[in-house]
Amino acid sequence: MKHKKRIFLSSPHMSGNEQNYIKDAFDTNWIAPLGPNVDAFEKELASYVGINDAAAVNSGTAAIHLALRLLDVRAGDKVLCSSLTFVASANPIIYQGAEPIFIDSEPETWNMSPQALERALSDALRDGKLPKAVIVVNLYGQSAKMDEILSLCNEYHVPIIEDAAESLGSTYKGKASGTFGKFGVYSFNGNKIITTSGGGMLVSNDVEAIKKARFLATQARDFAPHYQHSESGYNYRMSNILAGVGRAQLEVLNERVEARRAIFERYQQELAYIPGISFMPQLENTRSNRWLTTLRIDEEEAGISVESLLQSLAEENIEARHVWKPLHMQPLFERDPYYAHSKSENISEQLFKTGICLPSGSNMPDEDISIVISSVKNFLRVQV
Ligand SMILES: *Cc1c(COP(=O)(O)O)cnc(C)c1O
Repeated sequence: MKHKKRIFLSSPHMSGNEQNYIKDAFDTNWIAPLGPNVDAFEKELASYVGINDAAAVNSGTAAIHLALRLLDVRAGDKVLCSSLTFVASANPIIYQGAEPIFIDSEPETWNMSPQALERALSDALRDGKLPKAVIVVNLYGQSAKMDEILSLCNEYHVPIIEDAAESLGSTYKGKASGTFGKFGVYSFNGNKIITTSGGGMLVSNDVEAIKKARFLATQARDFAPHYQHSESGYNYRMSNILAGVGRAQLEVLNERVEARRAIFERYQQELAYIPGISFMPQLENTRSNRWLTTLRIDEEEAGISVESLLQSLAEENIEARHVWKPLHMQPLFERDPYYAHSKSENISEQLFKTGICLPSGSNMPDEDISIVISSVKNFLRVQV
């Protein structure tokens, strides 16, 4: 069926203004990591989300790694992390030689279960080794239950790193997603809601910590007339060219959020009534950027499996995907501890088995959404 035009899950969507910022970088010969676009992009993003400071880096993964370094996570330390997420949330724990402990989801947001987190924290206290950090992920744009998670982490004095790679532009009780923890992380990878082709941002209200992040991200060069180094750093800064792309993308972020939310609405209107289909919920007082429209299929009720639906969409040249495979189920992490939502409920495993992400790019033409909808309906043998 390769003659059919491919419908992508989430493809880059340029505004047209990117080239002006890039041209400016070329005209002034700022073809370097650092430069005026980087400084401006940091200020503009910090102001957009309402936080004191931001450091632009070359990936979201790098931003998480820097956050762990700044929290002094070392070999043998423990770090709690959402299980239902992309591997990049946890890889930096391994870079530091620390040990991840994975926390299940809860059904209302699909994100970190506060009751599983509470058990993990109280066990850690009992064993006399509290984690150095908790990495909370906001999946597909939906904020986790931040009030509950913050109050637990405050009680145990454990800092939060908010992995908001997928939730830039979302809010929780009116406040920007990514600004709740000690550190927040955004990604501008090609498939995210806005992109610099590759890039990330570390944000915090702690201006000194962000200053230190910039230092670590440029090989930790001491203030001296020659090259002098007292600690080990990284080459993690964002280039001035890509920061230009980011500035133009940030100008249209609100439009991108509106477009993705409209796509979600459309799918929901057309598919939610079908028996066995249920969409990712939105917690009260939160507003998701709906980065990807995600739904669950009850195999028995719908009469089809997720696998077979994905297969049939693939034959139509439509790119749809499973929900993230939980990290505690990955061969890479099979020896690491995991806390389920409850004795009888393993929410992330259920979501993995039943969840599917539909094409959700903000530049998807209406007719492509219609094609996806009718393909799903056809496969489910529902009247189109
Ligand atoms: C994309 C993503 C990251 C990593 O961002 P990169 O910029 O690709 O390094 C981290 N966490 C989550 C949840 C992501 O979706």
